[in-house]
Amino acid sequence: MNPSRTSAARVRRINPSPSTAAAQRVRELKSQGLTILDLTVGEPDFDTPDHVKAAAIEAIEAGETKYTPVNGTPRLRAAITEKLRRRHGLDCTDRQIAVGGGAKQVIFLALMATLDEGDEVVVPAPYWVSYPDMVLANDGTPVVVDCPEADGFKLTPGRLSAALTERTRWIVLNTPGNPTGAAYTADELRALAEVLLEHPHVRVLTDEIYDEIWYGDGDALSLAAVEPRLADRVFLTNGVSKTYAMTGWRIGYGVGPAELVTAINTLQSQISSCPSSVSQAAAAAALTGPQDFVRETVRVYRARRDATVKLLNDVPRLSCTIPDGGFYLLVNCHDALGRFTPSGTRIESDEDFARHLLDTQQVAVIHGAAYGAPGYFRISFATSTDVLTEACARIATACAELSFAPPSA
Ligand code: PLP
Repeated sequence: MNPSRTSAARVRRINPSPSTAAAQRVRELKSQGLTILDLTVGEPDFDTPDHVKAAAIEAIEAGETKYTPVNGTPRLRAAITEKLRRRHGLDCTDRQIAVGGGAKQVIFLALMATLDEGDEVVVPAPYWVSYPDMVLANDGTPVVVDCPEADGFKLTPGRLSAALTERTRWIVLNTPGNPTGAAYTADELRALAEVLLEHPHVRVLTDEIYDEIWYGDGDALSLAAVEPRLADRVFLTNGVSKTYAMTGWRIGYGVGPAELVTAINTLQSQISSCPSSVSQAAAAAALTGPQDFVRETVRVYRARRDATVKLLNDVPRLSCTIPDGGFYLLVNCHDALGRFTPSGTRIESDEDFARHLLDTQQVAVIHGAAYGAPGYFRISFATSTDVLTEACARIATACAELSFAPPSA
């Protein structure tokens, strides 16, 4: 063994999350006394609702402080079952439910439970930063499929079909998506399902973590409900982090075929036994309790979304589409590339553009290449209207300063 080797190959294959790196850079700049307008944040700026906190306190006082079953407390499982029935008309049994420390852990476990070396996972881009690295960490090969803005950043049947091989184990479908906010319509899901029905060896991991932060008519749709013939090949993942401002509580869940869930729970039994008992009580209360918090926060997000989209679309060289769900905007900055800053630096990439915003305007965003979307940057509107308005004004200034030719000496 090479004594200088400090980590395993699976670790050397992956990158730390760019959003964590961006948050670290923001902290460093703040510690130098700079006021940073931080649009990188991937979590609600609201506090967890009081009745959810109260349920957690009650659980502590009632002695619910021990290990729980690997697949969660009966109360949490009942809450998940009820949510799926209420929202999508889907039925599931306890043997089909996995719970974990956030949807992130559940997704990781699903990949860990199913991938062998060289197995492929289709990841439509733009994608949530973690998918490709999670696949790599579990010996798989991410097959990134570009989904251009002209297609609404969505996977088309043609592109899906071209990406599938004998080695494909999964496709990941994140709807509404991070970073685009794009959500699939029933017709779009049915068209993808037609392709998938011809490839019975492929499973679908749907990531529906933003399903309740939804601005469209009706409800956000779930593939398993839209195409019941695929239901036994879909692993539906979700959680309470985003909808109920509970990112720190770390509860996510997955619902799918019992044999897959058994494999996931076998891994979970050796990894953490179960997620926190107290957090499970809180999550059950969030899912079953009054939903006014969700309605109110979505109203606020919607107002911010509309105001920010308008401000950014008024900035020459930038444009963005209106997200159907979530709290992010993916802003097209292709037209700013190749131009020069007042200090003579050429903006070659979205990463340079994000650095320009941070260095000259103290506005922190995440560059699109981190999401498989070069030529774009992501902003989060999970922050106050004042911060968003000021940040957009500064972004406009940063764009106005760019010129085609380097400044003359
Ligand atoms: N899926 C997507 C698309 C996300 O954006 C995130 C968090 O940013 C997660 C999953 C993880 O959520 P959780 O906090 O439940 O692990």
